[in-house]
Amino acid sequence: MTADSGARRAILQAVDALRSETEDVLARLVRCPSVLGQEASALDLVAELYGALGLVPQRIPTDPDALRDHPGFSPPLISYAGRDNVVATHTPREVRGRSLTLQGHVDVVPVGADDLWTTPPFEPRVEGGRMYGRGAADMKAGVASYLAAFRALKLAGLQPAAPVQMHAVIEEECTGNGALAAMLALPRTEACIIPEVGPGLAGIYAAEVGVVWAWVTVTGRPAHVREMQAGINAIEAALVVAEGFKRYEGEMNRAERVHASFRGVNHPVNVNLGTIEGGEWNSSVATRARIGMRVGVMMGYTAAQTKADIERIVAEAGADERLRNVALKLEFKGFMADPCVFDMESGIARLVRTNYAEITGEELRAVPATGLTDGRHFELYRNTPVACFGPEGQNIHGIDENVSLDSMHHTTGTIALAIADWCGLEPAA
Ligand SMILES: [Zn+2]
Repeated sequence: MTADSGARRAILQAVDALRSETEDVLARLVRCPSVLGQEASALDLVAELYGALGLVPQRIPTDPDALRDHPGFSPPLISYAGRDNVVATHTPREVRGRSLTLQGHVDVVPVGADDLWTTPPFEPRVEGGRMYGRGAADMKAGVASYLAAFRALKLAGLQPAAPVQMHAVIEEECTGNGALAAMLALPRTEACIIPEVGPGLAGIYAAEVGVVWAWVTVTGRPAHVREMQAGINAIEAALVVAEGFKRYEGEMNRAERVHASFRGVNHPVNVNLGTIEGGEWNSSVATRARIGMRVGVMMGYTAAQTKADIERIVAEAGADERLRNVALKLEFKGFMADPCVFDMESGIARLVRTNYAEITGEELRAVPATGLTDGRHFELYRNTPVACFGPEGQNIHGIDENVSLDSMHHTTGTIALAIADWCGLEPAA
């Protein structure tokens, strides 16, 4: 079932007409500094934008007690108070098509060294057809796209002839618990589109690794540097623990361990030493240090197995001669996420690929991702096919993150046509 050619033309014309408005929405979203714990302004803005589409925004709390026993739950880092996810549901006059979820996260990763940015990370800048700013690509352009796609239908005098849910969620970048809470709070839909940023090209996610976050706190023995040998330096001990993880990374990337869906990907399993903190004084032997790590999980493994591997690596480090009399404490907070494969032959994936090709004359490449998205929740725990694809972005999680505005509009057009084909159309209310 595809929308007729007159409707398709009208929808794509509306997408074009909305181009500058869509870029304004993206700029407004980028101005919200929605790092972990600070998502409120972005959530409020999306609620306002849902309202502008004629929908009623609804707040969905992330309740760890309600989610704790769910296999998709990850141990939280901070409290969820004042950070409720926002959703809205379009209800047609008459259901004639298939239901759909349009999902996106509003949280962004920290800016890093902000003195390295060409312009301040939360002040959007357009140059050479690209918008720069933290979150511009990952994934505020995607959120702007799905909002614009729905708006384009309305502008063409149309609306989906099936229920369409929109989700704006927190913590995609550290737990995925926001997505899980929003998904479970609403009825299952027959497909889901997540316009996540493509990895430097127009791509659709064919698979993604899982991720486990772990934290190791090392307690040594303090001393003045004059009697350094009497003390045990926690920072040096933490580096010994880290060595074990880097060996593990090498092991997990051996060809025979790499799943077929990741063949051809160079180094798909990454162990990132993300944070280190510790020590008290340049002239004191450091008492305590803490390292925070992100450990990738290959398809065919589970987060639970990886957790067990991490426990073993830390236990082995504890037995290392160099770490005698050192106390090691291991904690799991943040991602406990399984890997997943997205079916490239599902109805929604095929529609997205066909419509993208119709709009751009190019193929969306199916790419296995070495990072993760919220898509796993829908695929693994709701048996809902996911099309995870979106604008072309550069330097995501890095300095001077930016997104191609042309590709954002291609994403908008692709989503608008996919809604028309998947949900069917009726005259706008
Ligand atoms: Zn993202």
